[in-house]
Amino acid sequence: MQFGKRNKKGDWSPNDSIKLAPYLSWPSDPRKYLSWLVSYFFPWNAVFICISLIEWFFLTPSIDTMKSLQVAWIIYLLARNMLLILIFYGLLEIRLYVQRVQGNRFKFNAKWPSEQPSKVFLFKNQNIDNFIRTFASGIPIWTAYEVFGLWCYANNWGAWGLWSNYPFWFPILAFTLPVYHELHFYCIHRLIHFPILYKLIHSVHHNSVNPSPWSSLSMHPIEHLLYWSDSLIHLIVPSHPLLFLYNLQITGTGAVVGHVGFDKMEFGENSKLDTHAYAHYLHHKYFEVNYADGATGLDKFFGTWHDGSEEAQMLMEARYAAKVAKQNQEK
Ligand SMILES: [Zn+2]
Ligand SMILES: [Zn+2]
Repeated sequence: MQFGKRNKKGDWSPNDSIKLAPYLSWPSDPRKYLSWLVSYFFPWNAVFICISLIEWFFLTPSIDTMKSLQVAWIIYLLARNMLLILIFYGLLEIRLYVQRVQGNRFKFNAKWPSEQPSKVFLFKNQNIDNFIRTFASGIPIWTAYEVFGLWCYANNWGAWGLWSNYPFWFPILAFTLPVYHELHFYCIHRLIHFPILYKLIHSVHHNSVNPSPWSSLSMHPIEHLLYWSDSLIHLIVPSHPLLFLYNLQITGTGAVVGHVGFDKMEFGENSKLDTHAYAHYLHHKYFEVNYADGATGLDKFFGTWHDGSEEAQMLMEARYAAKVAKQNQEK
């Protein structure tokens, strides 16, 4: 309780509001950059960099193999990605939701998804529904993008280069990929919140109002197609397959960031890790706020930013009231 408070329902919220990236405020405070940089990489992006390095050096077929589209290496990549998600999401899910090692400490929603059966889910079960959508459509579509990109690379279609060719550009690209991913996500996410597209496509993801790690990639196949299309940029700008794999990691495995359901993960008695999940949790809770996290500033610019503060809550409620009043007037 030192870090937050619970409402009457038992839902927990942090005391600190979510901060936008320091480069979005002017005049910019240079002292904030260091802590922002640390949170930019740790814990998530540092892990995704490590996974992409392991993938590129040890778990990706040779260029010669990837020159032609053959079933064996495509299935291999599919199995590799499925195994990664099974382990990565599975460990988080088991630790936090099955073993409940930290109980409901730092858990945003007082309820557990397994205790809330609903008709909106396949087999009326959020976990089973999320699991099927992740493995039957999410990871195959992710792998299709990966196969396409690596096949293009092996045949030298695109602007691929060596690190020695682009000693400045590649580090800049590597550094900005998470922000680029968020920008892309904001655009497609706004698009699928248009009422008709929301009903047909995006509502599948929003069925998980109380998300857990398995909810991360639980989407309609068309959303999956849009979601991973950010990786196509590597066929347009000069890039390296390692950066392409890192992009796929940020988008694929990285979907878990907003869906952990806990503000902090505890490791032992005194160590905890910030999950950076709150902004997207609020999106699942209120639907029309935080189309992205705080790296692009677009939500702030368009008036949909909710940083968890009471002021943001009041602004959101005023916006809803104005919307309802307008709808009533039109009737
Ligand atoms: Zn989500
Ligand atoms: Zn949404």
